[in-house]
Amino acid sequence: MAEMADRVVVMYAGEVVEDASVFDLFANPKHPYTMGLMKSLPKMDEQLEELDSIIGSVPNPLDMPKGCSFHPRCPKATVKCIKNKPQLEEYRENHLVRCLQT
Ligand code: SF4
Repeated sequence: MAEMADRVVVMYAGEVVEDASVFDLFANPKHPYTMGLMKSLPKMDEQLEELDSIIGSVPNPLDMPKGCSFHPRCPKATVKCIKNKPQLEEYRENHLVRCLQT
């Protein structure tokens, strides 16, 4: 993907959670879901029994979690994340993130 695109839009449960240039996203992922995806990528110089994975599963669209839809799976979740729905905001120029802890 990094060789084919200039920008990457990461979606979770039907929403954009991060939008950045390929270089910025791979070098500096800010959303915990993006970070989890990056950790799950296999590395050519490592031999592993199992790849890292993100705990839990994608929510049922008919029964979405309150607040941030990623909070049941997020290692950085706080009470604030359960009570408030994050908006897609500019982290820096050309890098948008939907996270209350960014
Ligand atoms: S808002 Fe909270 S739960 Fe959602 S991704 Fe950010 S830290 Fe995780």
